Amino acid sequence: MSKLEIVRLGHPALRSKSKPVTKREIATKDFQKFVDELAAICDKNNGAGIAAPQVGVNKRVIVVHVDPNNPRYPGKKPFPLAIIINPKVISSSKRIKEDWEGDLSCGLRALVPRPDKCVVIGLDRDSNPVKYDLDYDFHARVFQHEIDHLDGVFLIDKVKRVDTISEIAEWEKYWKNKKI
Ligand SMILES: [Zn+2]
Repeated sequence: MSKLEIVRLGHPALRSKSKPVTKREIATKDFQKFVDELAAICDKNNGAGIAAPQVGVNKRVIVVHVDPNNPRYPGKKPFPLAIIINPKVISSSKRIKEDWEGDLSCGLRALVPRPDKCVVIGLDRDSNPVKYDLDYDFHARVFQHEIDHLDGVFLIDKVKRVDTISEIAEWEKYWKNKKI
C-alpha cells in the first residue's frame, strides 16, 4: 500500500523547483520503492501522468502512463508506463496546439497551448539514458505538463483563454461538447 498522498494546488511543493536525482540515489531501495508508489498513485487516480512534486517530493521524477481503459482520457493513443528521471525537453515543434488539460492536484480543466511535438531525454529507473520522440500531440502534451511541475509551473500559468478555466462539473456542462 502506498503511503503517498497527492497534494493540492496551493501546496508549496507545487511551486518549488525540484532537484535532480543522482545515479547513486536512483540505485537505492528507497528510491525504487518511491517510483513504484508514484506510478501506483497515478494509476489509482486515473492520471495520464504524475510528477513527484504532486506527492510533495521535490525531485525530478515523472511518470507517464496513458492506459486505453482510462476513463479520463477516452480515445487517446496508449503510452506504456514510463518512469523518467531528470527529464528534459531538448526540442519542440513550432506548431502550437490548444487542448484540454486537467490535473490530479486540482479540480480544474483549461485549454492550454503547447508545442504539438517534442523530444524528451532523461534516465530510466536503472539510470540508463532514454529518449522519447513524441510526435503524437497528446503524449507530447503530457510530458511537457509533467516536466513543468518540476519547475513549479502549473497548467493554469500557461492558459491564454482564461475563460476556459473550469471546475470539472462546469466543464462537463459547458465545454465538453463545445467546438473549440
Ligand atoms: Zn499535473
